[in-house]
Amino acid sequence: MESQKRHNPVYSFEFFPPKTPEGVEKLRRVRARLAVLGPRFFSVTFGAGGSTRERTFETVAEIQRESGIEAAPHLSCIEATREGVRAILSRYRDEGIRHIVALRGDLPSGSGTGGPREFRYAADLVAFIRAETGRHFFIEVAAYPEVHPQARGARADLLNFQRKVEAGADGAITQYFYNADAYLRFVDECEARGLDLPIVPGIMPITNHNRLAHFSDACGAEIPRWIRKRLEDFGDDRDSIRAFGTEVVSDLCRRLLEAGAPGLHFYTLNQAAPSLAIWENLGLGRIDTAGSPSAHRP
Ligand code: FAD
Repeated sequence: MESQKRHNPVYSFEFFPPKTPEGVEKLRRVRARLAVLGPRFFSVTFGAGGSTRERTFETVAEIQRESGIEAAPHLSCIEATREGVRAILSRYRDEGIRHIVALRGDLPSGSGTGGPREFRYAADLVAFIRAETGRHFFIEVAAYPEVHPQARGARADLLNFQRKVEAGADGAITQYFYNADAYLRFVDECEARGLDLPIVPGIMPITNHNRLAHFSDACGAEIPRWIRKRLEDFGDDRDSIRAFGTEVVSDLCRRLLEAGAPGLHFYTLNQAAPSLAIWENLGLGRIDTAGSPSAHRP
C-alpha cells in the first residue's frame, strides 16, 4: 500500500440515471444532501441501450451545471462504435466534463447479438479516449480485488488491469467487496508491478439482503458467510439489516483508510441515508473539493 498513502483521501458517490420524473426529483434531493460533504466527484452509470445512455448524459450535464461538484460519466464500449464514442466525448467536453469512468460494460441478458464490436475490452476504450482527447479527461477504470467473474484467473485479470493502466488510465475504482484483505493484496500486487495510480475501494452499503445477494452473484463480489448468515437471520427486519450493515461497512472503511486507501467511492443506488450513516460513523465531517478534510479524519 506504499504508493497509495501519499495523498489525502478523496471521496466520491455514484448514481444511476433515473428513469422517471419522480426519480429525477429524488436524485436532486439525494445529491444535495451528499454535496454538502464536499466530495471530489459524483459519477453516473451508463447502461446498454440508447435511452439509458441519453439519461446518463442528461444527469451528468445537470450535476455539472447545478451541483457545484464535478460530474464523471461512466462510459462503456461493449456495443459502441468509434464514431459514437467520439461524439459523446465531444458532448462531454462541451459540458466542461474532465473526468470519465471507462468500462467495457455488460450486455443485458438476451441482447447483444449482432451489435457493433469495435471495442473488445475496456483497455481499447481507454486507448481510444487518450488518442482522441489527449490529457483532457482524467480516466478511471474498474478494478476487481476478488477477480472479475469472466476472467481466466486472478493473474490474467491482474494483467488485464495492467493493460488498462498502460493504455492510459489515471485512476481506478474497485468493484465492491467486504473482505479488506482482497483489496490490500490486490493493491500490493499492483505496486509490485509498478502500477502507480490511486485504486479507490468501491463501497456498497448493506441495506437489503436479497438485492445485495443478487448483485453480488452477478458481479462476482463475495458476501462473507458470517455476514450472509446474520443477514438471513434478520429476515424482513430492515432496521436491523441497516444497523448491522452500517456497522460492518463502517468497520471495513475504517480499516481501508487506516491501511492507506486513497479514498472511498460509494455505490449509493440513489439513496443518501446509507452512505451518510457510514460517513457519520467514520467521523469524516465536511471535506473540501480537493479531497482534503476540513474536519477530523479517522
Ligand atoms: P474489462 O477490463 O475489459 O474486462 C472484462 C473481462 O475481460 C475481464 O474478465 C478481464 O479479465 C477480461 N479481459 C480483458 N482484456 C482481456 C484480454 N486482452 N484478453 C483476455 N481477457 C481479457 N457496467 C455498466 O454497464 N455500466 C456502468 O456504468 C458500470 N460502472 C461500473 C463502475 C465500476 C467502478 C465497476 C467496478 C464496474 C462497473 N460496471 C458498469 C460493470 C462493468 O462494466 C463489468 O464488470 C464488466 O463485466 C467489465 O467491465 P471492465 O471495464 O472491467 O472490463
